[in-house]
Amino acid sequence: MTAPVSHTPRKLIDGMGRTIVNLRISVTDRCNFRCTYCMPENNVEFMERSKLLTFEELTRIATIVSKMGISRLRITGGEPLMRKDLPSLIQMLNGINGIEDIAMTTNAFFLKDQAEALWKAGLKRLNVSLDALDPEKFRDVNRKDCLSEVLNGLEAAKKAGFKSIKINAVAMRNFSETEIMSLVDMGRTEGFEMRFIEFMPLDSDQVWAREKVLFGSEIIELIGQKYDLVPIDNSREIGPASEFTFADGKGKIGIITAVSNPFCDHCNRIRMTADGTLRTCLFSTQETNLKTLLREGASDEEIDQAITDAVMLKEPGHKINLDSFERPKRAMHAIGG
Ligand code: SAM
Ligand code: SF4
Repeated sequence: MTAPVSHTPRKLIDGMGRTIVNLRISVTDRCNFRCTYCMPENNVEFMERSKLLTFEELTRIATIVSKMGISRLRITGGEPLMRKDLPSLIQMLNGINGIEDIAMTTNAFFLKDQAEALWKAGLKRLNVSLDALDPEKFRDVNRKDCLSEVLNGLEAAKKAGFKSIKINAVAMRNFSETEIMSLVDMGRTEGFEMRFIEFMPLDSDQVWAREKVLFGSEIIELIGQKYDLVPIDNSREIGPASEFTFADGKGKIGIITAVSNPFCDHCNRIRMTADGTLRTCLFSTQETNLKTLLREGASDEEIDQAITDAVMLKEPGHKINLDSFERPKRAMHAIGG
């Protein structure tokens, strides 16, 4: 009798010795919000629909990378729930041998209606973006007046069975200070992990300036006025956030200090835009066009080689803090956050 063939993926290691285990897949650059830190308010130029990778193409890429050592996927956008029939894609990705974890980042507007189908399709982890619990501040930053829809979406996700829900808030000076404590309190009450992400220069409006970033150290100080926080030692080895537990044992928070203390040394991710280009860093100025390979009949081996070559050249780190920093041409919604 022949022994069953085991799935033994190789490791995908970049030129700096970092092991890449995580692929972020953007499924659309479209969004029903117009967050000030991400999209312009008007006249957004979206990708032509024919340029978006199909579910079959996305699944083919995910299958190829699963054999290269990638075991974790995150679906993002734009707003991923604007892509029609997303649970079908989740189901297709979930069936790939070697994919151990599928997560999604969403603004939660459409979650109320889709949470159950997504859970059943195999999505297990959610990051929901929520910057403010004050309805007016929510409207100002997201340029859409719909805090209650987002809260309903979160409620539906809990009901559907999601146990790991993180809330992402972009940390901006003169905006976030008043929201941090209420978001932290909500996280503790509802069982969500709050994550504060320093505002990065990826906004379409190009208004980012260092003075507009509320730094991680300041956030910790603010939260520390009410709660004792205990750092989790190895949190950065697993993901981008520095994580803390509350000394009373009730919950966790994470701070992503992409500007003040970058995590590039531990970065284990690559990204694919909705139009099928591979980006080895959020701030990449070079891309690898996988869509052309897919659509011009390249073999799996050729696509594997293109990804391996791109990963070998993965940027050592971003240059936000250097004079030589160059903004990527794509804004966050067109990269996939
Ligand atoms: N539309 C979904 C959402 O908002 O969750 C997914 C895509 S969004 C681009 C992914 C994440 O990027 C969100 O958590 C958002 O807050 C974050 N983000 C967008 N622009 C950012 C910026 N300039 N700096 C830091 N984080 C940003
Ligand atoms: Fe849309 Fe997400 Fe960008 Fe906000 S952060 S505009 S919700 S893609």
